[in-house]
Amino acid sequence: MTIDHSSLFLGGRWVKPLGSSRIDVRSASTEEVIGSVPDATDADVDAAVAVARRAFDDPSGWSHWEPARRAEALERLAEEFEKRADVIIDLISQQNGMPISIARQLEAPFPGAILRFYAELIRKQPVEERRDGIFIESTTVRRSPIGVVAAIVPWNVPQTLLMTKLAPALAAGCSIVIKPSPETVLDVFELAEAIAAAQIPEGVVSIVPGGRELGAYLVSHPGIDKVAFTGSTAGGTAVATACAKLLRPVSLELGGKSAAVILDDADLDLSRMGEAFFAATMANNGQVCFLGTRVLAPRSRYDEVVDAVAALVSSVKIGDATDDDTLVGPMASPTQQQRVSRYIDIGIKEGARVVAGGAGMPTDIDRGWFVRPTVFADVDNNATVAREEIFGPVLSIIAYDSDADAIAIANDSDYGLGGTVWSTDEDRATSVAAAMQTGTVGINGYIPDPGAPFGGIKRSGIGREFGAEGLAAYQQLKSIYRMQ
Ligand code: NAD
Repeated sequence: MTIDHSSLFLGGRWVKPLGSSRIDVRSASTEEVIGSVPDATDADVDAAVAVARRAFDDPSGWSHWEPARRAEALERLAEEFEKRADVIIDLISQQNGMPISIARQLEAPFPGAILRFYAELIRKQPVEERRDGIFIESTTVRRSPIGVVAAIVPWNVPQTLLMTKLAPALAAGCSIVIKPSPETVLDVFELAEAIAAAQIPEGVVSIVPGGRELGAYLVSHPGIDKVAFTGSTAGGTAVATACAKLLRPVSLELGGKSAAVILDDADLDLSRMGEAFFAATMANNGQVCFLGTRVLAPRSRYDEVVDAVAALVSSVKIGDATDDDTLVGPMASPTQQQRVSRYIDIGIKEGARVVAGGAGMPTDIDRGWFVRPTVFADVDNNATVAREEIFGPVLSIIAYDSDADAIAIANDSDYGLGGTVWSTDEDRATSVAAAMQTGTVGINGYIPDPGAPFGGIKRSGIGREFGAEGLAAYQQLKSIYRMQ
């Protein structure tokens, strides 16, 4: 049985779409069609932006509610999300191939936690603060919501990445139009049910499913005040260019090619560090922006690192993403499968040594968009597989000679999003982490925390999500000068 939706969620109501075209959604593991939703048109976007604008401009509406009242609504949404979490993670796992065990750890708990974090933050944050003046008596600095937000999200971690925008935008008092990726829309329709059940007021949230042309239309729409984009560096560059022409505020969470720096005192016992290392380098089939896909190994323990990483990756269970014991599922789409396969071929052609996986489908699997989890050893940091984001389960091991050399190699990248340092000496690991040119870094593991800013430098993006910084991205500041 397929899940077919006939209506669009615009401004909190289910309405008939203005066009007739549809998006078919397939299971990444079986390739079968599992559902469909309306493909929104430009006219649907116009309608969504119009209701968002009306809601935002309503003098007694959402944007003017007391923060505590909005906080209660965010908490209701967290509860409604959690009631539907099992259905949502099952849909995600079918659509993008996220192993269900990983979806349980990531997509089930994060959205509710993010909503509650921002509910708590706006309860504590004053709308106005008074600052002593230098030339005048004082200034009242007042926070207000930035306006109507366009949020564009990718398919890889669809609910959490959507919530990194929806929760702070709602907390600030904004209205929002969300464009999910066509690969992962069924879970977003389930979220729409949660939004309706949480009684978020009319007009405040709309969802317009569609491809990149629809996204481009939304980004440049005259009724939008701010754009929040998560996706590829190429997509982010196009969005930034459109926003630059309009002088429209934009935050960009883009690609990565992070380093996992293994110091020469690291504990390489897989029974102790295997799970955390796998999560930080290959979780979600390698389809996570911050993963440390360049593994930097000290020359003094090089063979040991290669053996440990190859043993870890060779041992993972590959299979249908919805099976409980699967650790690596399929790629999210045939395009993604072809892209990752092409990079595996390039790695082999450029002379990297295959120590796990390799080209082709995993044995015993004859359907689904699978690739073999692959580890390349003896990779030069200038090789294509070390420079370009692959976005699949492919690791490159690169040798280094000293901590300074490891830092230089880690920083020799166009990207700067994530990274890890593996060591038994916390001080030493911290000083290496501090020297890495990146927005975030984990020591002996990597788990982004909603309370702390997350984002990238260089070609990994502009701005920060999570933390109070993530809320500030949806707020305007006004200074009211007081002479006496
Ligand atoms: P993508 O850029 O192709 O698409 C992302 C979203 O943007 C989709 O909804 C797409 O329809 C839309 N889009 C694409 N081009 C657009 C344009 N010109 N105007 C408006 N909308 C446009 O990326 P993807 O393949 O879906 O996602 C994978 C990429 O996302 C990877 O590069 C990954 O590193 C990155 N990512 C980054 C983060 C982060 O927080 N930094 C998190 C997850 C994924």
